[in-house]
Amino acid sequence: MSMDEVRANLTAKLTEIDAEMAQTEQPPDQGAISFGKRIGEGTSIAIDRFAQVGVHDRMQRTRADVVRALEKLDEDSYGTCDVCGGAIGEGRLEALPWAVLCVEDAGRR
Ligand SMILES: [Zn+2]
Repeated sequence: MSMDEVRANLTAKLTEIDAEMAQTEQPPDQGAISFGKRIGEGTSIAIDRFAQVGVHDRMQRTRADVVRALEKLDEDSYGTCDVCGGAIGEGRLEALPWAVLCVEDAGRR
């Protein structure tokens, strides 16, 4: 894959994440929450909100990596680990084009 293709992929991913994050940031539909007799339902809504926060956190982390990977393209350091400076590896970059750390350092994060 050429660096131009990588850049196009990363830019597309960034747009995708921003769109998804904008969706999860929307306030919950108040009409959907009924403060009725069933406490169980309120609990499941609370849990859903928690799950949403987790997803949002993960998206934010991925977004930071995508932004960093784009920076690395500019710096000509794309494909090298931000921690140890070693090669991230073709296979890993193919699976995760916004990887900015090698497998070992990503595991330590
Ligand atoms: Zn490393």
